[in-house]
Amino acid sequence: MNFPSTRLRRLRRTEAMRSLVRETHLHPGALIYPLFICPGESVRKEIGSMPGVFNLSIDEAVKEAEACAALGIGGLLLFGLPAEKDEQATGAWAEDGIVQSALRKFKNSRALAPLVLIADVCLCEYTSHGHCGVVARDGDHYEIENDSSVALIAKTAASLAKAGADIVAPSDMMDGRVEAIRDALDVGGSEQIPVMSYASKFASAFYGPFREAADSAPQFGDRRSYQMDGANLREAMREIDQDIAEGADMLLMKPAMPYLDVIRAARERYDLPMGAYQVSGEYSMLHAAFQRGWLEPERAMMESLLSIRRAGADFIVTYFAKDAAKVLG
Ligand SMILES: [Zn+2]
Repeated sequence: MNFPSTRLRRLRRTEAMRSLVRETHLHPGALIYPLFICPGESVRKEIGSMPGVFNLSIDEAVKEAEACAALGIGGLLLFGLPAEKDEQATGAWAEDGIVQSALRKFKNSRALAPLVLIADVCLCEYTSHGHCGVVARDGDHYEIENDSSVALIAKTAASLAKAGADIVAPSDMMDGRVEAIRDALDVGGSEQIPVMSYASKFASAFYGPFREAADSAPQFGDRRSYQMDGANLREAMREIDQDIAEGADMLLMKPAMPYLDVIRAARERYDLPMGAYQVSGEYSMLHAAFQRGWLEPERAMMESLLSIRRAGADFIVTYFAKDAAKVLG
């Protein structure tokens, strides 16, 4: 049937009508807010390139988390800035590590009970060189070692689960980490803790502002020998296949907006719960435009999130979580 018998505008005439036929919805429970936890007390240091996002000491992080819980946000993704860094990322798996300490505090708060606490698992915030794994050097040449990194990553995941993480989320992109983490969790009595794998994480310029937030910029080289080439969709599917075979319970796609096609392809192919991470650069880019008055903040924010949901993500990790939850009421 064609025009004039079919008039698609009939269903767009009022907000009530549009609401009735809306295909994609956002809700606060499917938003996850990242927190950057730093040492000290009463520390609340804004990240220059990410307005409204802070490095928070544990006491301040508790307040931020309580605000998230009150808004009905689904969960938090925790990153740590340790007091000291070294070649072996000791702070990542130390029992009194910064995120482990925060998790124990959070678990003691009744107000935070509705939040799913997700611990990012990686070494880059904890290594002195800022790479996500162990570095082997030979003169000018260096290599990010896979298997020795995986051993430390698995140890980190087990330690975070023991401290109270509800989900562990490896973001390192080493081969074989999901299986190693699953084994370490099971051996450590955390067999009920799911692994959310950053299965297809692309080497992206859009992570720039995060490196200021997490103080994790590599001191030399880049991450292209472990993170994926942005040109490769089929390889992303192979990464996901592998992580599922190794026991991943959920997937996280990263970044979101420049890779919506990858999210869509994964949604069509896999039945695992899947989230997408609207990364720091996506947030900063929009905020830069807001500051100049070039984009309408609320509408642009909600449209960016809706695009990620429509592409197929069940949930979204976003620095807009609090602002969006307020809009969604
Ligand atoms: Zn990393």
